[in-house]
Amino acid sequence: MPKTRVGVFVCHCGNNIAGVVRVPEVVEYARGLPNVVHVEDNLYACSEEGLSAIKEQIAEQNLNRVVVASCTPRTHEPLFKAACEEAGLNKYLFEFVNIREHCSWIHMHDPARATEKAKELVKMGVAKACYLEPQEELESEVFPAALVIGGGVAGMTAALNLGRQGIQVHLVEREQELGGLVRNVRTLFPTEQDTEELLEPLVEQLKSHPQITTYLGGEVENVDGFIGDFDVTIATDRQTKELKVGTVIVATGAHELKPTGFYGYSRLPNVVTQLEFEERFKQEGADIPRNVVMINCVGARIPERTYCGRFCCTTAIKNAIWLKEQDPEANVYVLQRDVMAYGVDIEKFYRRSMELGVRFVRYDIENPPQIMGEERAEAVKAYHQLMGREVVLPADLVVLTTPLVPREDNERLSKMLKVPLGSEGFFLEAHVKLRPIEFATDGVYVCGSARYPSNIPESVSQAYAAAAKAAIPIRDGLVRVQAITAFCDEGTCTACGNCVQVCPFGAIELQEGRFGTTARVNVAQCKGCGCCVAACPSGALQQRGFDDRQLFSMICALAEEMTSGFGG
Ligand SMILES: Cc1cc2nc3c(=O)[nH]c(=O)nc-3n(C[C@H](O)[C@H](O)[C@H](O)COP(=O)(O)OP(=O)(O)OC[C@H]3O[C@@H](n4cnc5c(N)ncnc54)[C@H](O)[C@@H]3O)c2cc1C
Repeated sequence: MPKTRVGVFVCHCGNNIAGVVRVPEVVEYARGLPNVVHVEDNLYACSEEGLSAIKEQIAEQNLNRVVVASCTPRTHEPLFKAACEEAGLNKYLFEFVNIREHCSWIHMHDPARATEKAKELVKMGVAKACYLEPQEELESEVFPAALVIGGGVAGMTAALNLGRQGIQVHLVEREQELGGLVRNVRTLFPTEQDTEELLEPLVEQLKSHPQITTYLGGEVENVDGFIGDFDVTIATDRQTKELKVGTVIVATGAHELKPTGFYGYSRLPNVVTQLEFEERFKQEGADIPRNVVMINCVGARIPERTYCGRFCCTTAIKNAIWLKEQDPEANVYVLQRDVMAYGVDIEKFYRRSMELGVRFVRYDIENPPQIMGEERAEAVKAYHQLMGREVVLPADLVVLTTPLVPREDNERLSKMLKVPLGSEGFFLEAHVKLRPIEFATDGVYVCGSARYPSNIPESVSQAYAAAAKAAIPIRDGLVRVQAITAFCDEGTCTACGNCVQVCPFGAIELQEGRFGTTARVNVAQCKGCGCCVAACPSGALQQRGFDDRQLFSMICALAEEMTSGFGG
């Protein structure tokens, strides 16, 4: 066995770490740790210069373990691991210590304790590094086809983008027509373009594309498998079809909240939602009402549904402008709690509505507008915050602006695909900033209003992003699974099944083998979350890179510090 030779690299992260943590002290401390043969500090360990220093020292000092103490592993660990690999060191012999978030940021007012904590973390990192073992990553083939669920603007855009890359696409749409919600929308904000001008070319291109098969009236009945190798069952009115695909895009959108119980909706015939307004005036020849009152934030930003619908204010502005364009004498009021008109074009659009004479009146949630009239809405009474008194606005039509809400069957689909939903019931991305169209489950992506209420430009850009992501494994032909997966010592396993229950990725099964029934981990599905390891009462389940020896060595290192009176 070659002697363990650890190199420690401590990063200043400019002033981000070094502004609080006394880096030279940490460096001196690390020099005295067991098996450490080289320590240095870098202004930016992630810079070209910093990465070259790591590579050079691996060669010069014959390092066989590397510890970097710097910022977040989320963005930087792959970079340091790649540097190790380039220098010929297996990347699983690298250990990351986060002394920015865990020290300089969280203890920014206490440099002494931040420095002591950085030393402890480095000691724990070095202790663990000594027990690291080289690992091999599993490679599996990717079936060269993609499944897109949902044929709205987002799903169609994603499917076309994949098709244009030469990838075979199966697009499943539940309805008999493509287009989603937009099919019922009259014109589009802020350009006032006719929706047909957007939808028709999309649908035409999709239908005539040789790489794309569309299943109208279709439902995804079942999905099994993992990235590269999903088995999918699709049922339409006429057939049930079994497919194999490598990646999946969820583009199932959302639907408009129908606000039964609010403001006489569904009881009074002239109280409608914005979508119903759009549908009504999409027909030629519908009578234009003279007095229209719109009420925004109906069913949104309330305790039961705290989120903002994001583009519903713009929809109200669009429809208010249209009314004024049809009849400049029309009285159009928008009762609002705040106007969300983000982006330069939408802000201009908002200003234009005011120039045309649309009146915006702010109401308070504690004192909401009231509908007057028994058989139909005749007027709306509202407390005008600026005027400090009640106003009565005559109404031939009341339009309620409601947010998009998640589809009822999101839960069923989320279980089938083993991806999570957020607290509101929309599909939840892996990370809102770093992985906005991915799920933690590899090979499954999301775009459009399935993720959160999104307007068309947002849905389209997300669709391009999702298609690009879904195409990568297909074009590579292979996926590599990070070797931080769980494994089962079958001789110790008692087949209690706890691991099967807790695995969020469905990666573990009980199977018959040499030792009778035992747990078996499907490495391609395992994400290395460690739930099964924690739940295993017999210690049979372990995780590569986080096994008992490695973790206990860290705990012992910390305990040693604490009992020697330092730390604590
Ligand atoms: C009243 C109103 C007016 C609007 N006006 C504008 C505007 O002027 N400009 C603008 O930019 N945006 C506007 N929008 C927003 C626009 O509708 C959305 O941006 C767009 O619909 C998002 O597209 P999507 O594909 O994500 O979802 P959707 O349009 O909801 O499409 C999803 C599709 O998936 C299908 N589906 C759902 N579940 C399944 C399943 N399990 N299996 C198979 N298929 C499934 C659905 O049938 C649907 O066809 C408006 C929205 C509303 C409500």
